[in-house]
Amino acid sequence: MLKQIYETQTTKIFKAVLPPVGVNTYLLYHQHHLFIVDPGIGSSKLPEDNDIPYDEVSLLITHSHFDHITGIDEFPDSKILITQEALPGLKDSYVNLSGDFGGGTTVVQNSNIQILSQGENTVLDCAFQVMIYPGHTQGDTVFDFGPFIFTGDFVFCDSIGRTDFRFSDNDLMKKSLAKFRQYLLQKEPTDLILPGHMGVCSVKKLLDNNVFLSVY
Ligand SMILES: [Zn+2]
Repeated sequence: MLKQIYETQTTKIFKAVLPPVGVNTYLLYHQHHLFIVDPGIGSSKLPEDNDIPYDEVSLLITHSHFDHITGIDEFPDSKILITQEALPGLKDSYVNLSGDFGGGTTVVQNSNIQILSQGENTVLDCAFQVMIYPGHTQGDTVFDFGPFIFTGDFVFCDSIGRTDFRFSDNDLMKKSLAKFRQYLLQKEPTDLILPGHMGVCSVKKLLDNNVFLSVY
């Protein structure tokens, strides 16, 4: 169920594909800490599959569509790390689209929220860049940890996030794609792209294969 996709002495990343709609949930072990990126249903069981010790869990959220946040309340004692722009869907089922797909409505109960600002953030000795790329939602957030980048539903390896949803904006998406392409050009070709759905790939593969990044 868990697939390891990255390993150094201090950092390990695992990926699982979880309900309700096949979201990629990532486990990022950094030093003694565990970040869970976009927790889907069943996320709290995932660490049990590993023998890796950790002190506490933080939840890192790329955007607040229901499939990326439904597992948050499996961690009532954990901090939610999210940008102000991505925040509105956490407690609003109209914004997070839950119910639109025939399931129940999702309203996150955990209110232990730490707002991330754009630019460099450091959480528990772990430094990363936070960038907002609106289009799929108003607050799609990309987290760049250096050798790996979480892109949520903004960009997938071969496609991009849908822009026909409530609060999506196709014009903003085009601008975001152009900006992100420029950003990627200064990254290492071997850096990893870790999207919110489907497979992972390198920056080089993304630039070579994703036609949406080259047309705007
Ligand atoms: Zn989404």
